[in-house]
Amino acid sequence: MSLERLANLSRSIGCDVKEYANMSELTSFRIGGPADLLITADNPEQVLQVRRFCAELGVPLLFIGNGTNLLVSDKGIRGAVLRLDGKNAKPEIRDGLVLCHAGVPLKTLCRFARDNGLSGLEFGYGIPGTVGGAVYMNAGAYGGQVSDVIVWADAVFPDGEIKRLSRDEMQLGYRKSAFMESKAIVVAAAFKLNPDDPKAIGGRMEEFMRLRREKQPLEYPSAGSFFKRPEGHFAGALIDNCGLRGFSVGGAQVSSKHCGFIINAGNATCSDVLSLAEKVADIVYSKFGVKLEREVCFVGEE
Ligand SMILES: Cc1cc2nc3c(=O)[nH]c(=O)nc-3n(C[C@H](O)[C@H](O)[C@H](O)COP(=O)(O)OP(=O)(O)OC[C@H]3O[C@@H](n4cnc5c(N)ncnc54)[C@H](O)[C@@H]3O)c2cc1C
Repeated sequence: MSLERLANLSRSIGCDVKEYANMSELTSFRIGGPADLLITADNPEQVLQVRRFCAELGVPLLFIGNGTNLLVSDKGIRGAVLRLDGKNAKPEIRDGLVLCHAGVPLKTLCRFARDNGLSGLEFGYGIPGTVGGAVYMNAGAYGGQVSDVIVWADAVFPDGEIKRLSRDEMQLGYRKSAFMESKAIVVAAAFKLNPDDPKAIGGRMEEFMRLRREKQPLEYPSAGSFFKRPEGHFAGALIDNCGLRGFSVGGAQVSSKHCGFIINAGNATCSDVLSLAEKVADIVYSKFGVKLEREVCFVGEE
């Protein structure tokens, strides 16, 4: 692995590069060992270039958004972690579509839509990831999901090309997208929204936020709902019905506020979380015969 060469090349095209970046500071779970290299790009061209450098130098590459659906190994990440910083980017309206850089926080995009009297993204207001992460996961809540409003996305493919995918080509399903298999990095997306009164849109956004604060353990580090919703059931209700509310392994705990969340109740390690999740899934399976599948993405060395 030629990490030093990768660091130099990435700096030469204007990326920010940090060695031994602590992944616990880059994830909402606050868990994970160090990444050898953290590269921060701020435009699609840099993402494309870094991807090429990694391929040429044989350095493994992990792309991350805001780290809000990630569980990182205690051993950390060997190779490079790349992220796309959207702090200088602003959504814009063109030809009746809302266009957005993938590194922009989803919340910022939702506010932009509201301020321009455009409805359809209210569901996403409390989802703490980036626009790119939301497209990759087909994030959703309160009856809405990305697939309802997305028109196209531009992505950097492993062959080093940027391609535009239509909604159909993205094959968006429940917390699923074609990007998971193609390993393409979403760099921009366009949404079709409907005109509505900004006050009414804002009212719905605030109501969804209120519901989150009331029902979710937002006061603890977590990665949101740990398991996917099994067909015909709710993971949280199954876990609760097994008497597992508050059940813990080390610092990882089934939230007593919302059993679908595993929280970092204090100094939890990745192994604590994995071991708790396995126990919970085993107990739920033996009691109800329902298999719980992880929604949270585990990354790094087992
Ligand atoms: C308190 C809390 C509440 C949450 N509520 C919800 C909810 O209601 N609904 C919901 O769906 N999710 C929810 N989540 C989970 C999470 O916020 C979403 O899955 C979000 O879309 C992840 O975006 P991210 O930018 O943080 O991605 P990350 O967590 O950084 O990455 C997640 C995965 O996406 C990939 N990825 C990220 N960006 C890109 C990109 N641009 N191109 C290609 N791949 C990419 C990463 O490689 C990784 O595999 C919640 C999380 C928390 C902590």
